[in-house]
Amino acid sequence: MTGSFLEHFRHQQQDAETETVMDTQCPFCSVQCTMQLLEHRTGDRKKYKVLPLKDTVSDGRLCIKGRNAHQHALHKERILHPMKKVNGQFEEITWEEALSFIMEQFSTIQEQDGLDAVGVYGGGSLTNEEAYLLGKFARVGLKTKHIDYNGRYCMSAAASAMNEAFGLDRGLTNEMEEIPLAECIILAGTNIAECQPTLLPYFRKAKDNGAFIIAIDPRETLTTKLADLHLKVKPGMDAALVNGMLKVILDRNLHDERFIQERTEGFDEVLEHLSGVDLDAIADLTGLSRQIIEYTAVTFASVSRAMVFTARGVEQQTHGHDTVRNFINLVLATGNMGKPGAGYGAVTGQGNGQGGREHGQKADQLPGYRSIENPEHRNYIADLWGIPEKELPGKGVSAYEMMEKMADGEIKALFIMGSNPLISTPNATLAAQALKRLKCLVVVDMFVSETGMLADLLLPSSSYLEDEGTLTNLEGRVTLRRAARSCPGEVRHDWQILCDVARVLGKEAYFSYTKAEDIFNELRLASKGGKADYFGITYSRLKEERIYWPCPKEGHNGEGRLFSETFARPNGKAKMLPVINHVPKERTSESYPLHLTTGRVMSHYLSGSQTRRSPALSARQIESFVKIHPKTANAFGIKDGTMVYVDSSRGRMKARGAYDDSIREDTLFIPFHWGGEQNVNNVTYQGLDPVCKMPGFKVCAVRVSPVIDLTRN
Ligand code: SF4
Repeated sequence: MTGSFLEHFRHQQQDAETETVMDTQCPFCSVQCTMQLLEHRTGDRKKYKVLPLKDTVSDGRLCIKGRNAHQHALHKERILHPMKKVNGQFEEITWEEALSFIMEQFSTIQEQDGLDAVGVYGGGSLTNEEAYLLGKFARVGLKTKHIDYNGRYCMSAAASAMNEAFGLDRGLTNEMEEIPLAECIILAGTNIAECQPTLLPYFRKAKDNGAFIIAIDPRETLTTKLADLHLKVKPGMDAALVNGMLKVILDRNLHDERFIQERTEGFDEVLEHLSGVDLDAIADLTGLSRQIIEYTAVTFASVSRAMVFTARGVEQQTHGHDTVRNFINLVLATGNMGKPGAGYGAVTGQGNGQGGREHGQKADQLPGYRSIENPEHRNYIADLWGIPEKELPGKGVSAYEMMEKMADGEIKALFIMGSNPLISTPNATLAAQALKRLKCLVVVDMFVSETGMLADLLLPSSSYLEDEGTLTNLEGRVTLRRAARSCPGEVRHDWQILCDVARVLGKEAYFSYTKAEDIFNELRLASKGGKADYFGITYSRLKEERIYWPCPKEGHNGEGRLFSETFARPNGKAKMLPVINHVPKERTSESYPLHLTTGRVMSHYLSGSQTRRSPALSARQIESFVKIHPKTANAFGIKDGTMVYVDSSRGRMKARGAYDDSIREDTLFIPFHWGGEQNVNNVTYQGLDPVCKMPGFKVCAVRVSPVIDLTRN
């Protein structure tokens, strides 16, 4: 009797139903949509449901990536223990063994080859706290100048252009809510419909209000379908197109003379430069007719409120900085700044692409957008960190240049946190050589990524469901993502790992935090008085209020719309700059007759390390593909749906050909979410923009050929 009662009770326990509600925030793109994850448990069985929350810019919308994000966070392939490579195989070790290994390796390498022989490589998805701490860890923990991050490949062109033109780099100069007020909108090289789908309703609403939308993109996308006018510009010729538009606007006196005089400088130089611009030559360079360029220019300049948005399509080029400067020239020449429904935006890609570039994981930067080369800035941060200014390392090199230094043997060890550079670096063959040449590679990640496979040591880090911290969305709005569950296994948060490594390196005194909020409070001080000033923001405020940066004091809500009265440059004026008709550094040739451009698909994110592990997302796009115009395919003997090789002078990739009669006949498109032989970065161009060091991902010269020649019998 007693036995059967216990059995019955056990069954009841097993079948008991529980529901756990987790409030969280999507780990993927820069919109940072919020949601609830409901875990319904019956006995050992678990079911999940995702509900959007209404308190962010996406206003209760979620795209498929957000709806399925938990699938990777709860995936059985998560790394749950530190793992060390022994005889080519990973073996579980304890945290203390892992930390001792790092201490021995890094100390020996730095003693033998100098402090800068160890590099640090971060990511744009880290929280603000972790991005800040990674910068401090490199400079104080390791005393190395070599730190950079994958955001160099994402936002650097727009960031440098905004800094020079406006004196401040914040993705959008306006709140998203102002978009429906615009009467004309240019979307240049941005595929919002697939990359930030929950923002699309803002543009639809603008259209419903009568706005005219102009898309500039060499290929047709879900975004260009929304547009009233689609300019299929030749890849890499966007700067020339804007020169043509500016010429038309100035020739027809459609510019805003008063705004230009009162709020800008450099206009005379732009005017003089444009006097030498020939519209027929622009038509030839861009592949667009003179009439359509004139029509576009007149349409944009004839309204009183217009906005321009750029993204990686125009930024990831060897002249991306100048191209963005020219789009900013267009905005300034027409007086579209500082008023509702008028402004400029660089649509940030990565989840914390904005905050991640403000607080010190860039080679030349200290927290709060301070410069590592400015003596006053160096003194301020050195004082805060409690070190002599002369001990603060100088400026390092950009992400791709770090790879070159690894390949050359100058950087001998690397600590990677939150990035998969083997997939995301252009000219991936060089990246593989670089990483393989290291004496010691430590990778902090949730999974054994393609880069992780090359590591000597893997450290398990927490997912978005477990890690508390702040993130800054594409508008410059700071959000607090709370931890929704505890870490599985022996997983630790990125900030804890940095503190642990600092401890074994003898730097515990500088890294004695007990929670993410402690780090944020230090970040507030570090950013105080800087351009990206977070001093007035606190965790308790973020739980209740909507706050943008700059926010210099408590009680201040930050600025949703920037530059209403003045720009952030010393004289308060925006700087215009003449921009030449840049052509891509790598041109097509007899051997490589086609342009290649790259981009995203809706169901995947960056190198795919997380989304390829989500069954629901992976099933939507299981493999890469090569979009090719049927006429081009015919000319190269390629049948729809068959495997093709794409070759450049750097290497080869292989994927399935997919006919697309809307793409330019001289251009191929390949997404960048896959590795190995499907990695498009095996062929992309590594030449760097001279100002921001952005590689020329978006345009290179390639040839295409069938893997099996089906035209031969
Ligand atoms: Fe929102 Fe972006 Fe996540 Fe989609 S991927 S749910 S748009 S944050």
